[in-house]
Amino acid sequence: MKNVLLICAVAFIALSETFAQYHKCGVTKEADALIKQRLMQNRAMFTKQEVSDLMNNRTITYIPISFHSVSNSSGEGAATEREIMDFLCGLNGLYASQDLQFFIYDQIHFRTSNNIDDNAGSNASAVDMYGWTVPQTLNITIGRSQNNPTSSWYSGFGDYIFLLKQMMTPQAKTEAHEIGHFFTLPHTFYGWEGTDAEAEYANSNVPSTIGNGWGAFSPENVPRTGSQANCNSEGDGFCGTEADYYSDRTNCPYFVTVRDPYGNNLDPDETNIMSYALDNCVTTFSADQQAAIAMDVAQRSWVSNTPNGTTDLGSLASPTPISPVNNGLLGSINNPTVRLDWTALTGAPWHYIEVYGTLIPGLWFVDVTDVIYQGYQYNGTSYFDLSTTNLQAGKVYAWRVTPISNYSTCALPSPYYKFEATAAATSIKDLPIHNQITFDLNANPVSTTYIPLSVYTAETIVASIRVYSLDGREMMAVNKLSFSVGDNILQLPAENILNGIYIAVLTTDRGTLQQKFVIQR
Ligand SMILES: [Zn+2]
Repeated sequence: MKNVLLICAVAFIALSETFAQYHKCGVTKEADALIKQRLMQNRAMFTKQEVSDLMNNRTITYIPISFHSVSNSSGEGAATEREIMDFLCGLNGLYASQDLQFFIYDQIHFRTSNNIDDNAGSNASAVDMYGWTVPQTLNITIGRSQNNPTSSWYSGFGDYIFLLKQMMTPQAKTEAHEIGHFFTLPHTFYGWEGTDAEAEYANSNVPSTIGNGWGAFSPENVPRTGSQANCNSEGDGFCGTEADYYSDRTNCPYFVTVRDPYGNNLDPDETNIMSYALDNCVTTFSADQQAAIAMDVAQRSWVSNTPNGTTDLGSLASPTPISPVNNGLLGSINNPTVRLDWTALTGAPWHYIEVYGTLIPGLWFVDVTDVIYQGYQYNGTSYFDLSTTNLQAGKVYAWRVTPISNYSTCALPSPYYKFEATAAATSIKDLPIHNQITFDLNANPVSTTYIPLSVYTAETIVASIRVYSLDGREMMAVNKLSFSVGDNILQLPAENILNGIYIAVLTTDRGTLQQKFVIQR
């Protein structure tokens, strides 16, 4: 079977179909045939009694997922832990009735691949994804595929899933669909991938054979039983899913005019997760699809079926801050780290910690675009030592913590707690300059006749600003600028400076800061 898989691998890469309005599933007709092949192999291995036992006597099976979140070499594009936690929460909701629950195996792997960030459908991307796969886990690579942002898919060859980051949602419908493929479910419209049935056969019976050559197939007839029924072998191979010829994203209900070869009116099930109805339509797997999933779960040997905690952390009270207390002062940022300490929760082996800047003095609105820190604390302790590198004295920051296990990712985060960064026993003047002052361009590249700058300072300072070209020529010098405590905005006239790359240098008695920028008018 491996050889067959190899030959068809190319099919997974041909994802160049024109992208209309909706993202799609990249599982092609050939790929779907491989999935169905494994479905039929599994079906041959289990007796009816064994399938019934699987369905009726099971306990929760925990499926380990190896997550690979991809950024480019500039560090852009990765899905955050928060986004992954949210979809895992939704996914576990969709599979809960089948006693299947998914958990994060090991830790989330943050990977770098310009191939995948550029085009996940390329051969080079397939090599990257295959190379990362962790055996005996369900591997999901998440990326942007910026120049081919069309689809997510399950690769039968590599036995991994590529999830287009733009398709990730907390409802996890795409994710549940691709995992359905992983567990041997074909599309409900099996065979019709890439064919528009309504365009070709509107208001008529479809022929008894569609297409020719390798791709020729007999369409699934509408009747579930009787002499016309072929649902057990044709189409997706399930009599529990209605015949469906719709292979493009469609809202529900479908307005069907094509009929099966016997003239029976089609009535596809738009609630089925393996159909192409839009996310808001799909909610369920049929009973025989669920049986197929159970058979495939039984066929695969998972490296671990024990996550590090099964407590539903969503039912626990939120952690509250011990130190710093809410709206209190932080420990001295003259130290390399400061400690955030909160009340411990039983059953939370991990924590997710977020620290952000704030806006508007006095109101301190949380500015989630100003990320000071986001990340997991894997060691179970209920404190975190935050680096002071990005903290400025006198500024107010907001933080919150979410208790999680590698399985339970549904807990709400705590409310935001706030603290003011201080120099404490050290005088502010003795802090490293980056903890006292920030020096930023408000637009880069600069397209205006002035250079828009902002300076934050924890104490009043007098400074000079000089602008240099890359070959060291001084283009501009402004001396004895006075900056008051807090944020200062400055516009330096620069109409005489030509397009190019420059460096602005802020010099104070506490040290210097510099910013490279581009003038592009
Ligand atoms: Zn699909």
